[in-house]
Amino acid sequence: MNEKLILIIEDEKKIIEVIHSYLNKSGYKAFYALTGKDAIELFRLHKFSLVILDLMLPDIPGEEICIRLRKISRVPIIILTAKTEEIDKLYGFKIGADDYIEKPFSPKELLARIDAIFRRSSNEFKPVGNYFSFYKDELVIDNIKRQVKVKGKIINLTPDEYKILITLISYPQKVFSRDEIITHALGNDYTGFDRIIDTHIKNLRKKLEPDPENPKYIFTIYGSGYCFKGEYDQT
Ligand code: CA
Repeated sequence: MNEKLILIIEDEKKIIEVIHSYLNKSGYKAFYALTGKDAIELFRLHKFSLVILDLMLPDIPGEEICIRLRKISRVPIIILTAKTEEIDKLYGFKIGADDYIEKPFSPKELLARIDAIFRRSSNEFKPVGNYFSFYKDELVIDNIKRQVKVKGKIINLTPDEYKILITLISYPQKVFSRDEIITHALGNDYTGFDRIIDTHIKNLRKKLEPDPENPKYIFTIYGSGYCFKGEYDQT
């Protein structure tokens, strides 16, 4: 079962109680931290899929926690605060928050926003079809069997390589940054370095490209990322 872990960072016990019971009832597994210090520790111990972050905490300011989390993770962050000025909101997005909710709030609205964030990250880059072939069957990808063939021969890809390939072909010609590839192919809770993508791409090229030094499928766009440009077979 894919139970999503959510971390609530908040020092008001009443608010924690409300969110905590609401999330658990909705099928999420909620944890909470009353201080910034505890939050950072908890964050290192568990694989959270989302963080709800209050800005006014007794020890470390929420803004600083947001910045710290962003340095080590791409986890979605919803900022929860009593501060209502526009400037705070902009600052929140600037330091990497994904959404913002003002107190007092309805737990229902918070839940809707959480669901929306998860929907966004899981559906945005699904390929349109399930069967793709390029250059007269030179490269064939069957997404139902999760099978890749090059010139009729089955090629073994690692699960991460496969997910990256599917993400790239879901939007041909679109340039994906390393961060985007991580978010859409490997998920928000992936914690590795973005340079790992270069290694995966290198291996994918070795497995798929007739001439890995002169790719015809996966192109490097210098300073931006990678892009898939294979020529579809007409069906
Ligand atoms: Ca507070």
